[in-house]
Amino acid sequence: MFPTTMIPYGKQNISDEDIAAVVDVLKSDFITQGPKVVDFEQAIAKQCQASDRQPPHAIATNSATSALHIACLALEVGIGDSVWTSPISFVASSNCALYCGASIDFVDIDLNSGNMCPHALAIKLAKAKQNNSLPKVVIAVHLAGQSCDMKAIKALSEQYHFAIIEDASHAVGARYNNTPVGSNQYCDISIFSFHPVKIITSAEGGMALTNSPELAKKMHSLRSHGITSDQTEMTEQSHGPWYYQQLALGFNYRMTELQAALGVSQTRRLSEFVKQRNALAKTYDNAFANSSLTPLTPSVDTYSAYHLYIVLLPSCDDKTKNKAVHKQVIANLRAKNICAHVHYIPIHLQPYYQQSTPELGFKTGDFPVAEEYYNRAISLPLYPQLSAQEQQYIIATVLAEVDNVKEESSKLTSAASDEL
Ligand SMILES: *Cc1c(COP(=O)(O)O)cnc(C)c1O
Repeated sequence: MFPTTMIPYGKQNISDEDIAAVVDVLKSDFITQGPKVVDFEQAIAKQCQASDRQPPHAIATNSATSALHIACLALEVGIGDSVWTSPISFVASSNCALYCGASIDFVDIDLNSGNMCPHALAIKLAKAKQNNSLPKVVIAVHLAGQSCDMKAIKALSEQYHFAIIEDASHAVGARYNNTPVGSNQYCDISIFSFHPVKIITSAEGGMALTNSPELAKKMHSLRSHGITSDQTEMTEQSHGPWYYQQLALGFNYRMTELQAALGVSQTRRLSEFVKQRNALAKTYDNAFANSSLTPLTPSVDTYSAYHLYIVLLPSCDDKTKNKAVHKQVIANLRAKNICAHVHYIPIHLQPYYQQSTPELGFKTGDFPVAEEYYNRAISLPLYPQLSAQEQQYIIATVLAEVDNVKEESSKLTSAASDEL
């Protein structure tokens, strides 16, 4: 079969129930700041509750980017502070530190998982301690839906006294060490995204979860202008029922009732979606087991939410060739209506991050593993409604393309050596 339209790398799954839930809100009294946002917060908190723990406090926002921003502010990230994250992430994972006036730095990744490498983190922390430049916050990004090695990162946070945010934008519905990602057992704040390409969607939307009542209170306030109507928080007696006070400089990062209703409805299918994504990933894994492709390796203590299915192309002998082969394979797949993608362009290679300012000024070569990963990683289509037939077509095409390009590039190499 040749697909008549491009198979995307990801796609939302909207049911009639989802649509009805949104329409119901439109007919109700509240289309923002009503009961659905609270329902959504509770539904996600319940999903993330580890059996022996309190349900975490949940704060729904209009995006994960906003949630990352108020998470940093709640942890008092500001001018003079440093935040570290992974270079293999979406730019929002590091922009949040810059919004707060802090400086950003990166920790190189582990090539097998694509996640922040705990050994690289340990080495960088030891150096930073000597230079008196330890980070205030480390943002661990669970790439593709697989948790980072949070035990190792948590142990380092105790040794070096930094706070941990987990950017779990890819990982709602995932588990780590038998606890749901988002239960905050290994971090101060967890962040989810509900953008349409993610596991479940509210069109745009995000959520911050924490077990700390103080952090929850700060994030609640910052989500809505830093304003309170609660007498116990006010500096003087309320002037009357209209009265409110602004106590901090917050934002309008609120989620609407329409978004929350969609989110609640989608949450009912979360575990089904994650199961389907795992089954599709397993089919890919089996198909590529004896090929030259290397899927990102799931670690034994994780259950990935499989937001993305990423494979690494075989490493050629030089970087330039890796780059050329990678580009060619993706172009060939797209010509065959498979929208192969790359997650992510290393953040430190973005022009904005290469500006020569004291906070930025990153260069090619700063995080070599991330750069190698970028020249080899391909995201293949993965979403619950991907059919078995489509997946077989993708598998066959990918395997054929990888063989083709390998032959082409070995011809190139022998031609080049003939010339020499
Ligand atoms: C999608 C994503 C974000 C941003 O999410 P929004 O809800 O679109 O703001 C942040 N971090 C990572 C890792 C993401 O994939």
